[in-house]
Amino acid sequence: MPIQNLVIVGSGPAGYTAAIYAARANLRPLLITGFQAGGIPGGQLMTTTFVENFPGFPNGVIGPELMDLIKAQALRWGTGLVEADAENIDLSKRPFLIEAEGKPIHTHSLIIATGASAIRLGLPQEKIFWSRGISACAICDGATPQFRKEELGVVGGGDSACEEAVYLTKFGSHVHLLVRSAQLRASAAMVDRVLANPMITIHWDSEVVDVEGGDWMTRIQVKKRKSGKTYLLPLRGLFYAIGHKPNSELVLGQVKTNSKGYILTEPGRPETSVEGVFAAGDISDSEWRQGITAAGSGCKAALAAERWLSKNGLADFVERDVIEPSEVKTSTPTEITTESNYEPDALWQKGSYALRKLYHDSNRPLLVVYTSSACGPCYVLKPQLRRVLEELEGKAQGVEIDIEIDQDIALQAGVGGTPTVQLFKEKELIKEWTGVKQRSEFKKQILASLKTV
Ligand SMILES: Cc1cc2nc3c(=O)[nH]c(=O)nc-3n(C[C@H](O)[C@H](O)[C@H](O)COP(=O)(O)OP(=O)(O)OC[C@H]3O[C@@H](n4cnc5c(N)ncnc54)[C@H](O)[C@@H]3O)c2cc1C
Repeated sequence: MPIQNLVIVGSGPAGYTAAIYAARANLRPLLITGFQAGGIPGGQLMTTTFVENFPGFPNGVIGPELMDLIKAQALRWGTGLVEADAENIDLSKRPFLIEAEGKPIHTHSLIIATGASAIRLGLPQEKIFWSRGISACAICDGATPQFRKEELGVVGGGDSACEEAVYLTKFGSHVHLLVRSAQLRASAAMVDRVLANPMITIHWDSEVVDVEGGDWMTRIQVKKRKSGKTYLLPLRGLFYAIGHKPNSELVLGQVKTNSKGYILTEPGRPETSVEGVFAAGDISDSEWRQGITAAGSGCKAALAAERWLSKNGLADFVERDVIEPSEVKTSTPTEITTESNYEPDALWQKGSYALRKLYHDSNRPLLVVYTSSACGPCYVLKPQLRRVLEELEGKAQGVEIDIEIDQDIALQAGVGGTPTVQLFKEKELIKEWTGVKQRSEFKKQILASLKTV
């Protein structure tokens, strides 16, 4: 691979906005999207439902849809994508060295836009009940059948915690908001929504000490911080909304950071302590942390990188064959399969009808992905699974089940959150995955199942 003009690490609003600007400046940027290391491709907005404060969307926009649009805009102008985690960054020599998928990438300049990821509580039994009651994403997992009409809890006192508590009242019988202090830190509008909701009880001055249960979480231990008294709260689900930590591990000790790990830049500017390295978005912003501020700082970082490359005679501008790129295609949702449009050989179909038919009639491996409408990771995973099936040229088939529509099927399948993927071969469950996984994992397992005929 030739030396790059500019590599951008991170695919949230900061990374993609930087890519739009750099690509339009003919710098042909290469963007490493991330996969699992610090969140998911598309960043934090993939884990929310309505974004009501991003300019240009008067009626609000679903987070994953917004990120799809921003990504499409970056691709339209010629951004190159590496759909993997950056595993190593070495800023000690020039060009800088980045490793992704075990391969080296050399670049003259770098924008770090790796954002932040959700903090866990670290409870003694947390690992046992992770995805068996505990979740860090109410928006992704709230619609799971196990949570329907059950008592649920949210830990935290900020905007995310309040948003999640309100959201969960759609599914649970009651929501308990566990707040460490005696007040909420959320915006006034959010606080009003929580206080006005009779389905939410706030437990002030309360700390979760541990969780308990059998196969699934059934209750939590809570401690009153002032008195030290503990009590048990029967809950079926516990959702963490206790903040985020900056994903700066790869550059710690190489660029200046503050005590919490946020990258320090020139005041109001994107330059870091290393020339040619810029930071954008939440990774360098412990205060504002919004989609629009991240996008704005991504724009600044790309403009600054372009100036720096030009000043140092390092920019290798691309020449475009056509001045205007063609119009970009955005993804369209899959139609639900019915008796009239069912195709026995189709690679990808949706809904219980297709599942039943393929499960009983097909002898090919069958990949079933359980999704929900607001689940950001599902948006990330679905195109990856479809690509696997395309690469296998019809040797396997896929069905998508929306667990909000097909509750009974999800319950029967024991789905604990979305996305969940199950691989069947001749009615036998061969493997189950939860969350986003590499394409290669699915492909390997499908190929192995083909050999066991
Ligand atoms: C639940 C929730 C709701 C929110 N609602 C709103 C809202 O309504 N309005 C609003 O303006 N803001 C909202 N925010 C805040 C907003 O999402 C963030 O401020 C914004 O996404 C920050 O953008 P970013 O690009 O800096 O980072 P992020 O969005 O965090 O993206 C970081 C990216 O870096 C990638 N990455 C991490 N490590 C690596 C690595 N090693 N290699 C490669 N890539 C890596 C990740 O995969 C990810 O793609 C919300 C946040 C949350 C959690």
